[in-house]
Amino acid sequence: MASARRQASPKDDSVHTGIFNDIDLRLEGRQQSCLSIPWSVDRSPYYQVKIPIVRLRRGTGPRLLLMAGNHGDEYEGNMALFQLARRLDVSAIRGEITILPMLNAPAVLAGRRRSPLDGGNLNRAFPGLDSGTPTERLAHFLEHTLMPAHDIVLDLHSGGTSMAHLPTSLIERQGGAEHFARMLELMLAMGMPYGFVAQNGAAAPTSLAAAARAGAIGLSGEFGGGGTVTPDSMVLTRSAIDNLLLATGATDAPVLARTVRRAQTELLQLTSHAQAIYATRPGWFEPARLPGDHVLKGQVAGWYHDFNRPDEAEQELTFGVSGVVLSQRLHAMSQAGDCLVQVAEPYEAEPDERKP
Ligand SMILES: [Zn+2]
Repeated sequence: MASARRQASPKDDSVHTGIFNDIDLRLEGRQQSCLSIPWSVDRSPYYQVKIPIVRLRRGTGPRLLLMAGNHGDEYEGNMALFQLARRLDVSAIRGEITILPMLNAPAVLAGRRRSPLDGGNLNRAFPGLDSGTPTERLAHFLEHTLMPAHDIVLDLHSGGTSMAHLPTSLIERQGGAEHFARMLELMLAMGMPYGFVAQNGAAAPTSLAAAARAGAIGLSGEFGGGGTVTPDSMVLTRSAIDNLLLATGATDAPVLARTVRRAQTELLQLTSHAQAIYATRPGWFEPARLPGDHVLKGQVAGWYHDFNRPDEAEQELTFGVSGVVLSQRLHAMSQAGDCLVQVAEPYEAEPDERKP
């Protein structure tokens, strides 16, 4: 597909539907614009959701789509990609780089995981719906128009407001053996301390599964958490982006990081429900460990305090498997169904897999 322009189809030939933009993927040089999604609201009858997009192209080479703000309260990627868009000079790149620094813009502007316009969680909305809500239309445009025009998709995440997360790069087990080997190779090139292989299936509603369906290498990562950033989480994010640009040959020198950090990545996986502990009633969660701790099956993960039963001793929670604490709930107040802690196990390659 040569152009990212989306024309309204005859049946919904209207200024009130779809998603449109004036970026032309064939053009050399720099383009800066917005994706626009018409969505009438009380305040503004002809309102359009505006999603910033920056596009650079110089000749042929790797074609990268870099995105942050899939969830609206995960800030490392937003800051790093806006900075990248400002700093990247088209003369310093090879190929094509498309940057979406605040993807689900209504969610980002509200500082919330999901869009306040439609309750949409973009990372559960793929393959999306052309005639749907803003989040569904955005997912549809990404999977059917933008992702197929790129070789590599990087979607930057963190734990969000309610969760602390181990700093990890992240891929899903998607595609054939060759596709997966390239994905693993590029994930290791990002140089994060941990790398996490998820198993969500080919039909998953996630950006990584969407990238695979679009024929692109999908890469992601969890760079922090708690609805904030830290000096360390920013260094890791900037380094991961620089490392990826360098590994693909899109740039010859770091653009973001003062000192590019490149770790030997410890590979982890999540494959069973036994790796998570969930709340089963209202209460307060008191953790015993921190993300990154190595733990053994049966060890104490924390305590659950039931404020409806003040005479009852706090409940001891124990890990169901041995491994590394991957994520942990940050809000003490919990309800039945809230995930309190996840433990990742060491990665095990499939029998037919090339060694990274
Ligand atoms: Zn996220």
